[in-house]
Amino acid sequence: MSTRAVAEPKGTGIYAICIACGEGKKRFQARCKQCGFTPATELEMARSLLLSVFADVGDDYLGLTPDTASAIQVRVRNGTHVFDEERVASILAHLRTPEAKPSALDLVHTIAWIVVPIALGLFALSYLVFFRQ
Ligand SMILES: [Zn+2]
Repeated sequence: MSTRAVAEPKGTGIYAICIACGEGKKRFQARCKQCGFTPATELEMARSLLLSVFADVGDDYLGLTPDTASAIQVRVRNGTHVFDEERVASILAHLRTPEAKPSALDLVHTIAWIVVPIALGLFALSYLVFFRQ
């Protein structure tokens, strides 16, 4: 994934905001120490990335100023934060591009893990059937 945090805000040690409770955390993909929320789905990752203090996604720079970040934290905490769905969608599109995610290799591994046991099972079954006759 070419997505990365590029800098850190001075002093705070906080680079991202938990999208579930508004707590600050060091990495957008990290588990929240406050509520235990960990972004798992692409949508949660995209939303977490959008609430990163300093991060860039491809050519898109997504920087929250510390002021904006604390305003967002307040809104997430009281449940009134509305995500900019257009920006979330563009981050999602980026996360899904081939260079951002080696999904082709993952797919090969997944197929191997499904196909090989099935093939072995079929082979064993046909072997048994053959020797019963
Ligand atoms: Zn949290």
